[in-house]
Amino acid sequence: MHLQTSAHKILNRTFGYSSFREHQLSAIETVMAGKDVFVLMPTGMGKSICYQIPAMLLDGVGVVVSPLIALMQDQVNALRLNGVQADFLNSSLTREEAYETRSRLVGGKTDLLYVAPERLLAPSFQEMLQKVPVALFAVDEAHCVSQWGHDFRPEYLRIPEVMALFDRAPRMALTATADAQTRKDILGRLSLRSPASFVSSFDRPNIRYRVNLKEKGRRQLLSFIEQEHPGRSGIVYVRTRKRADQIAVWLEEKGIFALPYHAGLDQDTRALHQKRFIAEEGVVMVATIAFGMGIDKPDVRFVAHLDLPSSMEAYYQETGRAGRDGEPADAWMVYSLADLISMRRILEASSGDEAFKHIQRRKLDSLLGYCETAECRRKVLLRYFGEDLLTDCGNCDTCLQPPDTWDGTVAAQKALSCVYRTGQRFGAGHLADVLTANATARIEKLGHDRIKTFGVGREMTRQDWFSVYRQLLAAGLLTVGESAISGFRLTPRSRPVLKGEKNIRFRKDPEKDRILSKKRKKPVKAALDLTTDRQRHIFERLRSLRLELASSLQLPPYLIFHDKTLKEMAAVQPKSLEELLAVNGVGEKKAEKYGERFLAAIAEAGIDFSP
Ligand code: ADP
Ligand code: ZN
Repeated sequence: MHLQTSAHKILNRTFGYSSFREHQLSAIETVMAGKDVFVLMPTGMGKSICYQIPAMLLDGVGVVVSPLIALMQDQVNALRLNGVQADFLNSSLTREEAYETRSRLVGGKTDLLYVAPERLLAPSFQEMLQKVPVALFAVDEAHCVSQWGHDFRPEYLRIPEVMALFDRAPRMALTATADAQTRKDILGRLSLRSPASFVSSFDRPNIRYRVNLKEKGRRQLLSFIEQEHPGRSGIVYVRTRKRADQIAVWLEEKGIFALPYHAGLDQDTRALHQKRFIAEEGVVMVATIAFGMGIDKPDVRFVAHLDLPSSMEAYYQETGRAGRDGEPADAWMVYSLADLISMRRILEASSGDEAFKHIQRRKLDSLLGYCETAECRRKVLLRYFGEDLLTDCGNCDTCLQPPDTWDGTVAAQKALSCVYRTGQRFGAGHLADVLTANATARIEKLGHDRIKTFGVGREMTRQDWFSVYRQLLAAGLLTVGESAISGFRLTPRSRPVLKGEKNIRFRKDPEKDRILSKKRKKPVKAALDLTTDRQRHIFERLRSLRLELASSLQLPPYLIFHDKTLKEMAAVQPKSLEELLAVNGVGEKKAEKYGERFLAAIAEAGIDFSP
């Protein structure tokens, strides 16, 4: 049969999807032609299908190397529910399980075999693999081979030795994170032989980016969750363990189902909380950066940053855990002047030589610049990763409610000169008092009521000056010293501004929290919104059926069907198995196993709803 048709057939029948996403089919065709392939796609775009389908079509077993044991189990479970002959071998299996897995493999029954890199390197494993034809090697999380990346694993360096033993099998390297250097390392170190590269845009159009000023952070978070995502899964990132505990307790008191997660909790508690987050619906995880690696939950509806992330890379990765199912999701963040000061201070106080700090400062500047931008946020974010978005996205706060900006050249000069004339030792409070001629006892004692900048900023409020200082600090036109009592200092970049050689534009602070939930002006492509009460009622009914099935099978609900699939069922309301099969995400195996129950639930829910 024609290759394209057979790949499509598997996509339709096994996975229940109607069409390939960008690059999937070309990657599949290239591997099927026996060539090596490199795939770089953001999380959630569908890398797995690029090796799963060829492994099913080609003779022999597809060996998938993956470093994440927890994820392996999840992927194999998902494949088996779709009727795919998949297995994994890692240290979590019992002897019997490992034995059965081996006999299935040697018996030629396995289409896909997931292994940890250590296992791949074991001579006994290689010996066993010699007994069957190998369809392909797929190295997942391929960035682990590079020291430049954030997750170097030395065993990855030895993967090519093993692949060399099976010279005829095409090699695939897949990852979601790779800057130019890491990319080069992957192609070289995994010995890909003139590979074809498939690189997707890093845009995640279904994520709505929003950044707000922090006034009462917790309250802002609570109303965000209550008004926009009640009863839905989300992650709240905070900086410290203590804060994770406190915020989780506080949210619980306010009626939100929240759990903490951080490295200070014992192993069992962490595992339990992670399990509940995955298996149950509507858990809000309040976490430090310790949480997230290997979390593959597709229906996380929001990621909230109550404290600033450590860099743009971290921000992209953390927010990227929202909306992996492609449905609308929010990346929400609040920050304050105090947060900026502490970020700059942590950096200055960190150990590391000047060159290291220089890089770190540039990274921090980018992050803070993102927070303060008046441009489309998605443009700024993607530009950081070397991608140019030509038009504004229409799905971020600055696009939806463009902020006002004002010419701040003179204000910036006044603010910087006030820093200079008071000896570069004071913070925003004192400086704003000097500028607005608020002669406090401290000002009189220090004689700051007699300097030239005293009262030159009376045309603006104290609050306005705070905003100016925050933006100067964010733009790197000011910095702070290492100690907790050090004040603002000028930087090399302050000079041209002070001398009037550089114009500055500031953005006006918004009046109060802007809630953008009301209407998504430009509906995200492919997002399916339930429009009637009847549909919403059916959807809720399907969710509870899914939860019931999931707990009886001891599987996470999303492995049965994604939210998106349930929504489509609620909208279309299929009446027969055939109609059900037409719904995206319903493959033959699942239709056969669960179809009748879902059809019955749809019919019943429809009846209770009729008056
Ligand atoms: P990645 O490994 O890139 O993070 P996955 O391979 O896990 O992403 O795929 C993410 C989700 O997208 C999965 O639920 C997958 O079933 C779904 N998906 C993949 N390809 C398609 C497609 N062509 N149409 C619809 N959904 C798809
Ligand atoms: Zn935008």
